[in-house]
Amino acid sequence: MKPILLIAALVLAGGFLACAAQADAAGRTYPVTKTDAEWKAQLTPMQYEVLRQGGTERAFANAYWDDHRAGIFVCVACRQELFSSDTKFDSGTGWPSFWKPIRPDAVENHQDRTLGMVRTEVLCSRCGGHLGHVFDDGPRPTGLRYCMNSAALDLVEKKEAAKP
Ligand SMILES: [Zn+2]
Repeated sequence: MKPILLIAALVLAGGFLACAAQADAAGRTYPVTKTDAEWKAQLTPMQYEVLRQGGTERAFANAYWDDHRAGIFVCVACRQELFSSDTKFDSGTGWPSFWKPIRPDAVENHQDRTLGMVRTEVLCSRCGGHLGHVFDDGPRPTGLRYCMNSAALDLVEKKEAAKP
């Protein structure tokens, strides 16, 4: 009886692993999942190009590279909180740059081998949208530079303290 159970367990585990690998190759599943047509309908062409096709907007010609307002940058596609203005810094690159995400699990890192470079792509962990890349030439304390696309972000300004 025992060996049969063991074999059954191994077969089941193998099945799960195969499924997981398949799902990964075909695109991971995220808490917020929509069809391509749904994303196209929801997002502007620029947002769609960045978030769903891994595009990059132009440097110095985007909404937040030189925006110093205080607040929380959320994913424009699924509204997950991604970065705080407290960790935004002037990188001189022309893209909004941060030295850490608001929570470690707000973003996902993936190796990106496009354009003949090996870079680390940063995705929103809730909808899988492409946000930008992370580099290791950022300021202290993390030494990281999250180079983001404004088109993927929406700044929710910090509300002034409520009057007593
Ligand atoms: Zn998202």
